[in-house]
Amino acid sequence: MIEINGVQKSFGDLKVLEDINLKIEDGDIYGLVGKSGAGKSTLLRCLNGLETYDSGSIKVNGIEVKELDKKGLRLFRKDIAMIFQHFPLMSRKTVYDNIAFPMRNWKYDKAQIDKRVRELAEIVGITDKLKMKPNVLSGGQKQRVAIARALSMEPKTLLSDESTSALDPGTTASILRLLRRINEELGITIIVVTHQMSVIRELCRNVSLLEKGKLVLSGPVNELFLSQPDALRRFMMEDDVPPAANGEEIQVMLTDDDKSKKILSKISKDLGVEFSVAGGKIERYRDQQLGSMVLVFAQEDVERVCNYLDAKGIVWHRYTPLNIEKLQEEEEEDA
Ligand code: ADP
Ligand code: MG
Repeated sequence: MIEINGVQKSFGDLKVLEDINLKIEDGDIYGLVGKSGAGKSTLLRCLNGLETYDSGSIKVNGIEVKELDKKGLRLFRKDIAMIFQHFPLMSRKTVYDNIAFPMRNWKYDKAQIDKRVRELAEIVGITDKLKMKPNVLSGGQKQRVAIARALSMEPKTLLSDESTSALDPGTTASILRLLRRINEELGITIIVVTHQMSVIRELCRNVSLLEKGKLVLSGPVNELFLSQPDALRRFMMEDDVPPAANGEEIQVMLTDDDKSKKILSKISKDLGVEFSVAGGKIERYRDQQLGSMVLVFAQEDVERVCNYLDAKGIVWHRYTPLNIEKLQEEEEEDA
């Protein structure tokens, strides 16, 4: 388990992490999401001692990271591996030697290394690439090699810092599937830093949103989606639905159960009300489909509709536009 309590960190006058509190259970896939510069990489690097924190506590399986000495840190890092956006592979060495490198460093014997390299190549799907040099591989294949190398010391935790950010959408999807399989089949806890909400949706069970060094939201991904907190909407910057000229906009949240799938047709049938659709989408969240529809109802129908949705157990929100243009201006001022 990883327990982060009251962590603060500055680079000179710049406060980068402020009062971070967070708990990550063993076996979880946990996302840290936020805009560029929010402090995600710094927080991740504090977890494996690549970066120190000024105050507060970070305990990984009971060990306070900043109390580790050099030797302690070397042992500690065997259990906590990391992958990056750019795959720092050794270009002169073969894929085999790249994967074997950490084990050679730790003086594993040759037979043991050979067995493990072949197992790892199998897991990540690069058994036919072992004799090649990294420069002939695609980005996705290089990341697979980097993942195999990261797994070579049998870590309990894998940290991923924007590991799919340089990849095309198809390759991203296949790497995310691989990470999920590593989590489920090998039981490795994975912490994913990303600026892409799509990565969180497809991969993570739980997520925290970092905004300018502060954690503004934490929780199960699907629950946060259904409750639509402003901080999440701000981060996602989804296109505003234009204000309704007549009537009121209600955002109806859709899950993939039967009652949700049928709700739009049932509202009209059961209540005899009409509505128009102002916006909406349905997306994949790990194994679930979640979505929302912004519907415009006549003012006199709104109360009845809301009571009806409550009675049916459907989550809904009164839709308020975010004013994306204003948010973008603020962002440009920040930059
Ligand atoms: P993210 O990963 O969310 O993009 P980072 O953790 O990399 O954010 O950076 C957070 C802030 O800290 C940024 O303003 C960045 O410029 C600054 N920063 C990161 N590393 C250093 C460093 N070694 N020295 C000084 N400032 C840094
Ligand atoms: Mg970063």
